[in-house]
Amino acid sequence: MEEKARIVVWNEFRHEKEHEAVKKVYPDGMHTVIASGLKKLGGVEVKTATLDEPEHGLTENVLKNTDVLIWWGHCAHGEVKDEIVKRVQKRVLEGMGLIVLHSGHFSKIFKVLMGTNCSLKWREAAEKERLWNLEPSHPITGGIGEYIELPNTEMYGERFDIPTPDELIFVSWFEGGEVFRSGCCWKRGHGKIFYFRPGHETYPIFYNEQIIRVIWNACLWAKPSVFIEDKCPNINNPLEKLSAKNLNFGKAGILQNS
Ligand code: ZN
Repeated sequence: MEEKARIVVWNEFRHEKEHEAVKKVYPDGMHTVIASGLKKLGGVEVKTATLDEPEHGLTENVLKNTDVLIWWGHCAHGEVKDEIVKRVQKRVLEGMGLIVLHSGHFSKIFKVLMGTNCSLKWREAAEKERLWNLEPSHPITGGIGEYIELPNTEMYGERFDIPTPDELIFVSWFEGGEVFRSGCCWKRGHGKIFYFRPGHETYPIFYNEQIIRVIWNACLWAKPSVFIEDKCPNINNPLEKLSAKNLNFGKAGILQNS
């Protein structure tokens, strides 16, 4: 039997403590709702981590035992320590999956992995959103159907300043007329990255079964089969026998006339 995917749901966990409206929707934080939704679908081991824990809950040991990291942040992107961002980046390059949700588009980790501004248009007006499933045969859209409809969402509109995705999975349409690339896949090093747009803190979006299904599908898709530590070795013992010219070059460091 295949081993369970080891998931960590990371949440900044500030809005839920500071704003009554958010606390009402997510009394124990969005991370706990996402975690319990994923657990219900099975096949995963799920832990959570938050910004205010030591090392933001993302110690070397935690990351070493994580297959897929889910990231939600918004008002405190700047408080995430650069050292931890580097650590997460390194682990993604080695193979760890990363799922970035909603306002995580402006997180340090997403920006560093994309290399662009990751800016977009936005509007808070409880608009209807329809996420069109562009890739019904992709593992991330398994069991989703033609589209997902959310009655009340924050609008995100193009242009979303990202590198062209390796695979575009969802496009959103909003009541006000904008469209947005809502589900995007990239590979960085050995790691798979999925950006998924829904998840504004004042709407109960992470209780939606289709939304959790997409995140769960993405976890299984992004789970690495192997972790590969990148090195930059000097190979002095090639597989094939080298000629005298090559060996002389090796000694002198310059190409001899001969
Ligand atoms: Zn939002």
